[in-house]
Amino acid sequence: MTDKYDVIVIGAGPAGYVAAIRAAQLGLKTACVEKWINKQDKPALGGTCLNVGCIPSKALLESTELYDQAQHGFADLGINVGELSVDVPKMIARKDKIVSELTGGIEMLFKANKIDWLKGSGRVLANKQVSVTAADGSDTSYATDNVIIATGSVPVELGITPLQGDIVVDSSGALDWEAIPGKICVIGAGVIGLELGSVWRRLGSEVVLLEAMDEFLPMVDKQIARDAKRAFTKQGLDIQLSARVTGSEVNGDKVTVNYQDKNGDQSMVVDKLIVAVGRKALTEGLVADEVGIGIDERGVIHVNDHCETNVPGIYAVGDVVRGPMLAHKGSEEGVMVAERIAGENSSLNYDAMPNVIYTHPEVAWVGKTEEQLKADGVEYQAGTFPFAASGRAKAKGDTGGLVKIIRDKNTDRVLGAHLIGPAASELLGQSVLALEFDATIEDIAHTIHAHPTLSEAMHEAALSADGRAIHIANRKR
Ligand code: FAD
Ligand code: AMP
Repeated sequence: MTDKYDVIVIGAGPAGYVAAIRAAQLGLKTACVEKWINKQDKPALGGTCLNVGCIPSKALLESTELYDQAQHGFADLGINVGELSVDVPKMIARKDKIVSELTGGIEMLFKANKIDWLKGSGRVLANKQVSVTAADGSDTSYATDNVIIATGSVPVELGITPLQGDIVVDSSGALDWEAIPGKICVIGAGVIGLELGSVWRRLGSEVVLLEAMDEFLPMVDKQIARDAKRAFTKQGLDIQLSARVTGSEVNGDKVTVNYQDKNGDQSMVVDKLIVAVGRKALTEGLVADEVGIGIDERGVIHVNDHCETNVPGIYAVGDVVRGPMLAHKGSEEGVMVAERIAGENSSLNYDAMPNVIYTHPEVAWVGKTEEQLKADGVEYQAGTFPFAASGRAKAKGDTGGLVKIIRDKNTDRVLGAHLIGPAASELLGQSVLALEFDATIEDIAHTIHAHPTLSEAMHEAALSADGRAIHIANRKR
């Protein structure tokens, strides 16, 4: 038994490592338990996000996006590149280098903040004890005043399509192929399926996405989802809705995928199958029964708005609790909890949660959609501005998509923003700020936007909600 900690965080993904750093900054004696073993067989911090999620997927999306532009966009810009080729092992190695630099960075931050990294698998015991089982099987128990559970999530596996080697893979497996598959089937046309499907489609694979639901991206504004589907289809992503996978069978180096669509039973033979049907909270065996915290049948830990469980001093943040499975959501919950433990009165505005799909075009949104506002009976007005009318988008040669801003008709408050197009992920920031500051459309209209920038599209969309956009003919209101 070592000295008692003020805080022990279990899990060092974006929720846990951020919670640990903030707790240490506030003077709390902090440890973080993490069991991750990386591709190089070394213990690593950073969780799903840094090791097999946000960062590696974006590294490959960047490489492949530039390759795609070089193939299909450069000639229009007056650049002839002759014969192009790709070096996929080099792309993968670049991605791995980025991952190890960032995960190594977290290790340095832990040292700088004097956070003890307890390597191994953590378990919450009664009386605020946390046991850590190391790789050699040895167990050590630590006492603490507060526990923050941040054990994250793992990919949902479908019993009917068991993972097999590098042929039937989950999202992690699809980040490591070193040769370009001929044909890939992706189960699930959600965010992860679309991002990974885009990576391999840009490299030349034939990609079919089978989605059980009949609606494409149901959480996205309908107009934007429709535009996104059209754009992705044009790129060659074959998105089949109402197509439920019923099983798969590996034969040699091919996989047969069985599914049902509106025409009945179907099957297709592909080289690789990616199972991207969502993620589930990782809490199995994590908490001893006598601790008594509420966990539902899906493994999700029950918490209130402040991420407190029903047991005082035990908190849970990130993918293990309700809400969208997003890195920044977990990080901000981690900050909130660390600050509350230190006696501050922090809270989180879940209504201003940014969401991004990092495809091309990017899709990004915050706040309410028109569909949600209609259902809630809120009187609203939407202003839109197409990138086709943006001077900067034209100069970039990237004019697909639009910005939509929605305001409350009575108060002028911004209720939501929905974007599809170039740099949508970065442009979203100002609408998130608008929601956080409870800004009005008039506030955005008053804000001077540099010319020529893509952000002018946001300005013009705001003006257009009021029928006074300059660079499009305004619809009569
Ligand atoms: P995790 O990142 O899952 O971390 C949990 C950590 O806890 C892990 O390191 C795990 O080893 C550790 N752990 C679990 N159990 C124990 C235990 N008993 N003892 C010790 N340690 C334990 N989100 C975005 O916001 N933007 C994106 O662009 C994005 N892209 C993604 C792309 C892909 C391919 C995937 C798979 C996910 C993506 N996500 C993205 C989702 C994002 O990765 C997660 O929402 C985020 O990682 C959740 O953070 P977390 O800290 O709650 O959990
Ligand atoms: P997400 O949760 O955003 O990662 O998306 C996962 C998607 O996979 C959801 O849209 C599900 O409808 C879809 N899905 C789940 N099971 C199946 C299945 N058996 N066949 C096809 N799609 C599925």
